[in-house]
Amino acid sequence: MSDLNRREMLGTLGTLAAASGWISLNANDTLAQEKKEAAAPAGGTDSKTKEYVLPPLPYPPDALEPHIDAQTMTLHHDKHHAAYVKGLNDALAKLAAARDAGATGPGMDQVRDLTDAVAFNGSGHTLHSVFWLNMKKGGGGEPKGAIAKQIETDFGGFDKFKAHFGNVAKKVQGSGWGILAWEPLASRMIVLGAEKHDNLTMFGCVPLLVLDVWEHAYYLKYQNNRGGYVDAWWNVVNWENVDSRLSAATKLTA
Ligand code: MN
Repeated sequence: MSDLNRREMLGTLGTLAAASGWISLNANDTLAQEKKEAAAPAGGTDSKTKEYVLPPLPYPPDALEPHIDAQTMTLHHDKHHAAYVKGLNDALAKLAAARDAGATGPGMDQVRDLTDAVAFNGSGHTLHSVFWLNMKKGGGGEPKGAIAKQIETDFGGFDKFKAHFGNVAKKVQGSGWGILAWEPLASRMIVLGAEKHDNLTMFGCVPLLVLDVWEHAYYLKYQNNRGGYVDAWWNVVNWENVDSRLSAATKLTA
């Protein structure tokens, strides 16, 4: 795994661990130190301002053609993902201002909406940061190594998993995600179908492989045919990236 990918992955795991609250990294684990070193990954925050930053696409926007078109990738990354990063930073800044204004200040009237914005935009930022790295030019095929074994253990084989995950993604109501996640309480993987970015998820789960099924992810090329998009997406999955995420996630303890 490249240093960049590892740094981004660790940053994402750190974000999720912090967000879930009850996950702690083993202090003796090298992952904890590496997480510190990755305090300013492209997908995380700037270490000085603590502002979240938009990670660059790890490949040219046309790399996933013909399965995902370049215009969709450009708009999706440069506009949609960027908006989640901005929304997260804006909400956190307003919450900081509300704290500074005090318990009786006007900002406290806004904390409910601002906290909603943190959950929505923060989850959107995390999932998109994983999504880009879950794909590559010339991807697809069947997974190998530890991820393949874990899929066999938890889902009874790749074909069963693929049908399960694909149907979850196709049947998300409205906008959302298909998510293969590591669940650290039982040390197993589960499939989630999130609505928007943050509804119908399970705390503590670490996303390993995510599929964006918001219309902005496919409508230019596939129009209303979400199923065609989901079926084509398997051709760009970067299984090495998923395997790396599994390796890191299994070091987390609940
Ligand atoms: Mn999206």
